[in-house]
Amino acid sequence: MTAVLAIHAHPDDIETLCAGTLAVLAAAGHQIRIATVTGGDLGSTATAPPETSRIRQAEAARAAALIGAEYRCGEVPDLGVFKDDPTRRRVTELIRWAQAEVVITASPADYHPDHEAVSQLVRDSCFAASVPNYATGEAPPLEAIPHLYFMDPIGGRDREGVWTIPDFGADVSAVFETKKAMLACHVSQDAWVARQHDIPDHLASMEAWTRKRARDFETDLAEGFRQYRHHPYPRTPLLQELLGARLLAPVAQAPRAAS
Ligand SMILES: [Zn+2]
Repeated sequence: MTAVLAIHAHPDDIETLCAGTLAVLAAAGHQIRIATVTGGDLGSTATAPPETSRIRQAEAARAAALIGAEYRCGEVPDLGVFKDDPTRRRVTELIRWAQAEVVITASPADYHPDHEAVSQLVRDSCFAASVPNYATGEAPPLEAIPHLYFMDPIGGRDREGVWTIPDFGADVSAVFETKKAMLACHVSQDAWVARQHDIPDHLASMEAWTRKRARDFETDLAEGFRQYRHHPYPRTPLLQELLGARLLAPVAQAPRAAS
C-alpha cells in the first residue's frame, strides 16, 4: 500500500485532471488523500466567499469519498495563493497529513495564477516536509522526499498556448464513470463554469478533454503526467509502477499545432 496525495488549487481541478488515476490507484488498494490549497471561495456569484468555500469543500469531500479518499483544504484565499513562508508551511502540513510517498500536483505552467503558485509551493514543500525542524502543525515530518508528479495544465496548454507533452499516461477507461461521478459532485460549479469559462456543460468538457489527451496514447480516455526528477527528488518510476496495466507510454512526441 502506497500513500498518494493529489493536491491542487481549487475543488474540481483534481476531478478534472486526475480523478481517474486516483480511482485506479484506490481500486488497487492504495491510500488516497485529496487536498486543495484554497476552498475555491470566489467560484460563485450566488453565495458570499465563506459560504462558497463551505459548499465547495463539502462537494470535494463527497467526491473523495466515492473512492474512499479523505479530503482536506488548506484554507488559503482563492486568487490569493502566493509563494510565501506561511503558505508553504500550510502546504507542507497537507503533505505531512497525507504521509505521502507519491504527490501529484498542478502543472508548473497553467492558465490560472493559483495553479502555478500551487505547483511551485508543492514542489518546495515536498522537500520541506522531510526536514524535521521545519515546523508546520500536528502532522509528523516525512521520512523521505516523496515522488513528485505534475498533472496536465487545464486544456493541455501552458499560458503561451504550447501543448504539454506528458511523460506517461494512465488509461482511465475502466473507471471513467467514477471520474464523472466525482466531478458531478461539484454541483455549485455548473453555473460558475458556464458564466466564467463559457463552458455550458462541465462534465462534457471534462470528457472531451480526457478523450483529447488520450489521443497522445492512441487510446480512448487517459490522463497525462510528468515526473519531477531534479535533485534530490526520487527518480524511480513509482507512480508508473503503481499503475500496472493502466500505464500508457506516449505515442506523440512532437508539439501539436493549435486545434
Ligand atoms: Zn483551479
